[in-house]
Amino acid sequence: MAKELHAMCARCARRLCDPDIGANEVPSVDEAPYFCPMKLFPELIEKAIVEYDKTEVKEFARLASVQEFECYEQTGKGLKTKFPRIEELIQFANKCGYHKLGIAFCIGLANEAGMLTNILENKGFSVVSVCCKLGATAKERIDIKPEQKIEGPERWESMCNPIAQAEVLNAEKVDLAIMLGLCIGHDTLFIKYCRVPMTVLAVKDRVTGHNPLAALYLSQSYYGRLLVKEKRADD
Ligand code: SF4
Repeated sequence: MAKELHAMCARCARRLCDPDIGANEVPSVDEAPYFCPMKLFPELIEKAIVEYDKTEVKEFARLASVQEFECYEQTGKGLKTKFPRIEELIQFANKCGYHKLGIAFCIGLANEAGMLTNILENKGFSVVSVCCKLGATAKERIDIKPEQKIEGPERWESMCNPIAQAEVLNAEKVDLAIMLGLCIGHDTLFIKYCRVPMTVLAVKDRVTGHNPLAALYLSQSYYGRLLVKEKRADD
């Protein structure tokens, strides 16, 4: 049976989607690898491009690209990068004309949420924030067993409530929601329920100072276990 084809850009050595050609030349997609999504899904990509014809979408995409452009500087020694993400966040929110920002943070990053609030307020934004534990609902509500509680079976533990975080920021009608350190899975639920524009300042990584790529960069040394092949339980 023929093997099913899937998009696999991460395996592509050619990157013909971003060719090294002049502005007036035409990219030659024909030479792209067999797993290239430009070959597998041409109609879908065309449909996506048409989406940018919507005025609001086009303007948002334009501002995002301008933001990207402004993060580099051409120097005699090549491209130089200029801004950490937090400054980009401020710049982009200003570009979009946003005034009211909403932070959805993990209780483990409560200090960081305070620091971020100060920074954003000092830059002229109005800031609302919601902690992951809002609702003060016991973890038992989602069938967590006593032995699965982090502080021990005898202790109260509030469940993380990313749905409520999203709904509060929806109700507050913030111009932009900012995720700060939500756990994996909780962030997925937040994204699912958030109906305002949303971005991420940081994701949770308890052992790398919230820098998950650190483990990836070390996967050929200290985190070699990441590359060890394992069978999945459902194989
Ligand atoms: S879109 Fe095609 S050419 Fe671009 S990285 Fe993916 S596979 Fe490679």
